[in-house]
Amino acid sequence: MIEVCMLASGSSGNAVYVATENARLLVDAGISGRRLASALNQIGVDPATLDCLLVSHDHNDHVSGAGIMARRYGLPIFATVGTWQAMNGRLGPLLPHYERAMPRQGRFSHKDLVIETFPLPHDAADTVGFLFHCGGKTVALATDLGYVTPGILDRLQNANCLILEANHDEDMLLNGTYPWPLKKRILSNSGHLSNKTAAKVLTNALAPATRHIVLAHLSEHNNLPALALETVLSELECAGCRPGKNFAVHVASRHSPSCHIRLA
Ligand SMILES: [Zn+2]
Ligand SMILES: [Zn+2]
Repeated sequence: MIEVCMLASGSSGNAVYVATENARLLVDAGISGRRLASALNQIGVDPATLDCLLVSHDHNDHVSGAGIMARRYGLPIFATVGTWQAMNGRLGPLLPHYERAMPRQGRFSHKDLVIETFPLPHDAADTVGFLFHCGGKTVALATDLGYVTPGILDRLQNANCLILEANHDEDMLLNGTYPWPLKKRILSNSGHLSNKTAAKVLTNALAPATRHIVLAHLSEHNNLPALALETVLSELECAGCRPGKNFAVHVASRHSPSCHIRLA
């Protein structure tokens, strides 16, 4: 059994709860400790029962609450060596025992959960995506990536639950108020995936085993949940896939727990 829940998603902060029968962890902690505790309480999880925290990369929308969570609940933090170097003390004082290194590409176990990491092209040191395996079920999680390499597509294929970013609508971004250098950064190969790119990737990654697709990390200013959903649904339908029949497509909420999914 694997359970996932998006606690917060988007450029204003990200955190994902992942649990099995024996393991309980967070992937990223980009909102305050108080909001994280409140989000966990809302889904019936006592934050004191968490085991550890995994960090995908050092951007603030993924780590701003990590130090406080580690200190308050005694959580070891797993991050790549590059991410630890980039965080460079920003998490505040941590006991050495809480600073754990995880591979940029590899596999390790935590209780009954097998965690696989794979590199993502993004403008932060050693950004990673994750696969979580338990009891024959797999969850894939990839946000904050400028494009999808064949290697990443390979990791996403056959997951029972696919969590992928659909960050922006290209027209909204290009016509919006962001300064040009920021628009260029988001559109670049080390920025974020557009709705259209996410739709194409999901169409290619979709497999008979896929039960849930979660669109994540939506931009507050350059996207709308309904637009991201419509773009992905129409691409999937064009490709002959039938959303709603074999699999469901969800959009992660920005500020409150959403997409609480249990694969058994
Ligand atoms: Zn981010
Ligand atoms: Zn980022």
